[in-house]
Amino acid sequence: MHSYLGFLLRVSGHLEEFEAIFSVGLGKVAFSKHQPQVGDVVSGLGVESPPWEPADIYKVSEFKIGERGPDIESAAPPWVGSLPDLPTYRARGYRRLSPQTYAARCDSCKWACRMSVEIIMDRWDATVKRHRYETFCYGPRSCALYRAGRLRTVPWKGGPAWEEPEWLDDEATSHRGPDE
Ligand code: SF4
Repeated sequence: MHSYLGFLLRVSGHLEEFEAIFSVGLGKVAFSKHQPQVGDVVSGLGVESPPWEPADIYKVSEFKIGERGPDIESAAPPWVGSLPDLPTYRARGYRRLSPQTYAARCDSCKWACRMSVEIIMDRWDATVKRHRYETFCYGPRSCALYRAGRLRTVPWKGGPAWEEPEWLDDEATSHRGPDE
């Protein structure tokens, strides 16, 4: 969601005849049409993604919601329930989120995000790039489950690694109150 191109659904079910837990990329048009949320039973056709895509399956067609999950808005984190649209995420801003916390506590939270980030490796040549996955939280700054994790470093070709400053997260989210 970080690049605001779409949503990633975590699906527990069948990939052809194999049982699996996998992620499915859903674009914003399909998302607004179907409004999927935690607990829904879904089906569709898709293509196995190349390694740089955040989803296991993408180019989804014939997406259907067969059965709606329980209509829950959680009273404590991780926050489940109806998902906001992408402009709402963009307006909220994000903080970095520890990858371990993302995996252990935040996986089902509507404010959790894992995405492929592009890194320009050479300051003199913007075509030298690498991708890696990073995790983010768009949720309330008071969330008790939140752990920032280590500061991220960005390697430079032929120079010392650049460390992301701590104030970046504050700058991106300080327009919200602690419980928003
Ligand atoms: S830390 Fe962020 S992503 Fe994790 S449960 Fe709290 S609000 Fe959700």
